[in-house]
Amino acid sequence: MINSDLKYNLDRIKKLLPDHVKLIAVSKFHAVNEIQNVYDAGQTIFGENRVQELNVKKDSLPGDIQWHFIGHLQKNKIKTIVPFIHTIQSVDSWHLLVEINKYAKLENRKINCFLEMHIAQEDSKYGFSFDSCRQMLRDENWQLLNNVNVVGLMGMATYSDDSDLVRNEFRSLKQFFDELKSSFFQNEPQFTEISMGMSHDFRLAIDEGATIVRIGTAIFGERK
Ligand SMILES: *Cc1c(COP(=O)(O)O)cnc(C)c1O
Repeated sequence: MINSDLKYNLDRIKKLLPDHVKLIAVSKFHAVNEIQNVYDAGQTIFGENRVQELNVKKDSLPGDIQWHFIGHLQKNKIKTIVPFIHTIQSVDSWHLLVEINKYAKLENRKINCFLEMHIAQEDSKYGFSFDSCRQMLRDENWQLLNNVNVVGLMGMATYSDDSDLVRNEFRSLKQFFDELKSSFFQNEPQFTEISMGMSHDFRLAIDEGATIVRIGTAIFGERK
């Protein structure tokens, strides 16, 4: 897409977002020059879902971009992104959180992490169930991981035109967030974020309490 289209798309999306909702521009599969154009139009937070792709792109892009990792993260690849990653939105196991903490400590960094929740009907998606997440927070010493900041929850709704279904899934994530806030995170002021909503469903997500939306196609166009 040409420069002016990208700026137009970005501005259009931004007008639809309330002030308290942050935008992650999901740039996976899109070229460095397109990302640069969206950056030049004022966007500084970008999301990628593959380690190798991210590592290649980030070297040719401005150093003040906040990179959010949003894909399934394999343990053996954590250390390559830890030196620069701002946020990992896709923490889906206790062991992953422990490993991120370990490498972050070596780099003397503190990395924002989201717990990824499985809220969709599709069973191919990653993420904790509500029960397994409660159990982890109850049984493990996550408060002792000083180099990760658990800032909130991330979820993806079922890919569907059934807006009641999608709305209910987003609502369940918000309710679960509220539950965790009062039962585990009362003394953790950083636990504030609910990352939900993509190009086709972000309006519903915002209605249901999203604080961060992750939008790719509606900014960059279709992925090839
Ligand atoms: C690709 C992706 C998005 C963005 O999807 P679009 O439909 O292009 O807006 C958001 N979140 C995650 C986790 C993704 O993998």
